[in-house]
Amino acid sequence: MGILQNRFDEENVIFTNVDTLLNLGKEHSLWYLLFATACCGIELMQWGASKYDSDRFGMIPRSTPRQADLMIVAGTITLKMASRVKRLYEQMPEPKWVISMGSCANAGGPFCKYSYSVLKGIDKYIPVDVYVPGCPPRPEALIEGVFKLREVIHEERVLRKQGKTPKPRTPIVVEDPHAHDPFARHSGGAKLVKA
Ligand code: SF4
Repeated sequence: MGILQNRFDEENVIFTNVDTLLNLGKEHSLWYLLFATACCGIELMQWGASKYDSDRFGMIPRSTPRQADLMIVAGTITLKMASRVKRLYEQMPEPKWVISMGSCANAGGPFCKYSYSVLKGIDKYIPVDVYVPGCPPRPEALIEGVFKLREVIHEERVLRKQGKTPKPRTPIVVEDPHAHDPFARHSGGAKLVKA
C-alpha cells in the first residue's frame, strides 16, 4: 500500500488484472531459505546484513523450507549434500524459485575439473531460475539476481484454464562485468566449462 498511499489528489480507480496483483505481492515478499556453504555463504550473509540489507526488498530468511518460496544455493555443494538440497527444495510449497549463487553452485567452480566429491552444478538436482556468476559474487550481483527473478515472477501467469500446463521457465544468467564467463572463476582467468 505504501506505493499508492497519498499519491492521488482525488478519488481514483485503478485498472489491473488478478495476475498482476498476485505477482506484485509475490515478487515483493520473497521469503528465502538459505543453503549457504563455503565462501559464497559469507557473501550471502553480507547481503542479508545491515550494509546491503535484503530486508528492504521484503526478503526475510526462513529456517524451514515450508515457509520459504525462494531457495538461494550459495557455495560448494558436494555430491553427498545434493540429495539433501533436493529434499529441502521438495519441501518448499509452490510457487517456488531457486537462485544459484557463485561458480560452485553454478557448475562446480574451481573444483569442477579435479574434485571427485563436488557437484558440477546444483541444476543437476533442482531447477534453477537465476544464475549469479562469480567466485564469489559480490552482494550487488545477488541483488541484481533478485531483481531479475522479480522480472520473471512479474511475467508469470497465475490464472490459467484448467488443465493448461504452465510454460517452462527459462533460466537467466546475471551479467557480471567482472566475470570472464558465467560459470568461470574470477581469479586467474581460468575458464571452467560447464560439464
Ligand atoms: S564459487 Fe568461489 S567463492 Fe563461491 S564457494 Fe566456490 S570457491 Fe568459494
